Amino acid sequence: MADRDGLIWFDGEMVPWRDAQVHVLTHTLHYGMGVFEGVRAYETVNGPGIFRLQEHTDRLFRSAHIMNMTIPFTKEQVNEAQLAAVRENNLPHAYLRPMVFYGSEGMGLRANNLKVHMIVAAWEWPSYMTPEAKEIGIKVRTSSYTRHHVNITMCKAKANGNYINSMLALNEALSCGAEEALLLDPEGYVAEGSGENVFIVYKGKIYTPELTSCLDGITRATVITLAQELGYEIIEKRITRDEVYVADEAFFTGTAAEVLPIQQLDGRVIGSGKRGPITEQLQKLYFDHVMGRTDKHPEWISLV
Ligand code: PMP
Repeated sequence: MADRDGLIWFDGEMVPWRDAQVHVLTHTLHYGMGVFEGVRAYETVNGPGIFRLQEHTDRLFRSAHIMNMTIPFTKEQVNEAQLAAVRENNLPHAYLRPMVFYGSEGMGLRANNLKVHMIVAAWEWPSYMTPEAKEIGIKVRTSSYTRHHVNITMCKAKANGNYINSMLALNEALSCGAEEALLLDPEGYVAEGSGENVFIVYKGKIYTPELTSCLDGITRATVITLAQELGYEIIEKRITRDEVYVADEAFFTGTAAEVLPIQQLDGRVIGSGKRGPITEQLQKLYFDHVMGRTDKHPEWISLV
């Protein structure tokens, strides 16, 4: 990733990609205390547009506040940095990575003498899963790793260190021949995927776990709005893994994963074993919105 052309927004300036470097004693590299976002820009009918930019920026600031880090830029500057990262790299569509981290001014855990830095990188990253996965769905394994306890780390923050748990779970799932992990909360209820929220459909109603121990996903919120506008009832409640086994449909949501059907969990085929009709309907509607093919919710797209 490091050796390529392009520009990265770094502490307020556009820096050549290869020169966007930090020291090996960068504090966040050692302890994982940092916050970040995963954002997408799509090639909309009106040109490149960032989907739900303000919501991502708002969550970044909430994450920083939870971690007691002060972002040395305003939300307007952070929005503009993301638009510039797409624009100045001439990207028709992009994945964006804003990240806020501590510098190398000190190594103590007190972190009281550290400067807060911020980068925004943007690059082309068309699909997280194969195009077929969007239609046939993916195989998922319940993880042997428990999702974070709300008083061990801060589940509402999209914090760098939280992703050790996600990577352990994802790598375990991949090594077992699955494509994604489903993590349970410390009480054994369904929390989320390694980088996605989860939904199930049962007898025409849509269920998703409460936000207690999962990330407050922006795609999750988008899909809830779209489903409610279609007249579906959405129920946020604790879900057990066997409720997923017997669901009619199940799917993940995330900026990277978009709306992704789950075909199997722990070797149990879910529903018909294909993308279910409600999943398909929401997936199509989601793509219509991110690509700007509908004039509903124009406020969700920030043109670059
Ligand atoms: N849960 C986790 C752990 C994630 O990393 C992500 C991706 N940010 C999500 C859920 C989905 O969030 P969003 O829809 O905002 O991308």
